[in-house]
Amino acid sequence: MIRLFYFISFFAICEISFAQTKPKPAISNSLKQPKLVIGIVVDQMRQDYIYRYWNKFGNGGFKKLINEGFFYKNAHFNYVPTYTGPGHASIYTGTSPATHGIIANDWYDKETNSVVYCTDDKDAKTIGSESKAGLMSPKKLLTTTIGDELKINSNQRSKVFAVSLKDRSSILPAGHSANGAFWFDGSVGKFISSSHYMKTLPTWLNDFNNLQLPKHYLSQGWKTLYPLNTYLESISDNNNYEQAPNKKDTAIFPYNYKSQLDINNFDILRATPFGNTITKDIALACLKSEQLGKGNETDMLCISFSSTDYVGHSYGPRSVEIEDVYLRLDKDLEELLNYIDANIGKQNVVVFLTADHGACDVPAHLMDMKIPGGYINEAELAKTIKTFCFNQFKDSLVNGMKNQQLFLNEPKMASLNLNKFSVEHTLANYLLTIKGVAESYPSDVLKYENYTEGSFKSLIQKGYNHVRSGNVAFSYNPAWMEYHSKGTTHGASYSYDTHVPLLFYGMDIKHGSTVNKVNIVDIAPTVSMMLHISFPNGTTGKPLLDVIDK
Ligand SMILES: [Zn+2]
Repeated sequence: MIRLFYFISFFAICEISFAQTKPKPAISNSLKQPKLVIGIVVDQMRQDYIYRYWNKFGNGGFKKLINEGFFYKNAHFNYVPTYTGPGHASIYTGTSPATHGIIANDWYDKETNSVVYCTDDKDAKTIGSESKAGLMSPKKLLTTTIGDELKINSNQRSKVFAVSLKDRSSILPAGHSANGAFWFDGSVGKFISSSHYMKTLPTWLNDFNNLQLPKHYLSQGWKTLYPLNTYLESISDNNNYEQAPNKKDTAIFPYNYKSQLDINNFDILRATPFGNTITKDIALACLKSEQLGKGNETDMLCISFSSTDYVGHSYGPRSVEIEDVYLRLDKDLEELLNYIDANIGKQNVVVFLTADHGACDVPAHLMDMKIPGGYINEAELAKTIKTFCFNQFKDSLVNGMKNQQLFLNEPKMASLNLNKFSVEHTLANYLLTIKGVAESYPSDVLKYENYTEGSFKSLIQKGYNHVRSGNVAFSYNPAWMEYHSKGTTHGASYSYDTHVPLLFYGMDIKHGSTVNKVNIVDIAPTVSMMLHISFPNGTTGKPLLDVIDK
């Protein structure tokens, strides 16, 4: 007690002498908060794209964020599977699927013995169209987001919105208590929402939809921004590793969308650079109409650019198409940053930019270069495992296989007097005999062991939710995947899928960069520190204080 008294007295004396020599700063100064937070996620953006396209980027987009902001060059996801749903959830909740519960885009649900989607909600209604594309909500997300904490902290005075082509890329960043999340309904070519957020679309969004921008953009077709022969960062436009999104057209420039427009197929917009441009358009419309950053509380806008992912899946990371999408996205970013600088001010805003996952090179391309890679047929794999179970345990036992996890029929195992853990261990060992499988883990190992941070094993563990995940989890060798031989995917624990850019820009953010490894789950606690609000309630990441100037 005496010690505590001296301790308090010491600070009291310091405070008095400080107060005598220098006026006490106003409280509002010491708690200066940005007026607006903008989170930007570029779907499937590998970290190396920054360098590959650097010489072609303008000064106002990616380069502005790096030249004036802080660049974490070695930022990674710390779990598998590296998919869009878990990626967006982890960025905005500061934790991994083990805690926030979004274990994949869709997963096998043990209760209903069916596959469920991360944001589907049969109790919700579509707002803005007659389709089912709005039967969505964030109810499967088990924790709060940065936006939720802003709402709690401000007694709901902060405004929080999210926009994206993809439903999950809008809903999961927005969180539970947002004012609105909007996404694209290709069946009508409009942005819609769900009854989770609102009863009707805001007037500004109806006006925006009435502009019919999808038709306007698609009618232009897609030609390269610069002459084709200058795309030296990419492989030849005509190659064996690409597939047009509709699986019919040849995957070479120029692209013409007349036939799709004739049948009002606006979903084609997703796999074009115009999907990003319209996302920028709706982001600007939302900023202006909702007066974000103009009130007394900090507002938030979450923007996710999805076309990079659709184009990446179809054409792969070495294609002219993906290069052109990034060069055009750079211009969209420039327009967005110019608006923010001119209308809200760099000193009033915090912007961060990252990705939800990376992407693997097309394995067929790697193999043609004598680099290891391969393809798995998961339907065949499931059959092989069921046959093994039948021979070994007199029953196929496997209820489902999804996201490299096996879901076993536990009541059946009990009725056959089979020990659950011994069956899981037998299956984990059997999986290792299959070509392309790298590692496998029975559930007890993932539940009761504690793996070292950063090891491949820890990535599986951090993606493993004790209630929702399966009985056995496994992974493939690097550059092995279940996919067509044209195009590519993501989802693995390897650096091509985990390594993404992480940029901060704006108020009190110093200029600099680091190659120290940081985790994507560190973003949310960092932003929370900048806003002086509580962390999202499941946060396991730590604040990145070297980004903050003081
Ligand atoms: Zn994807």
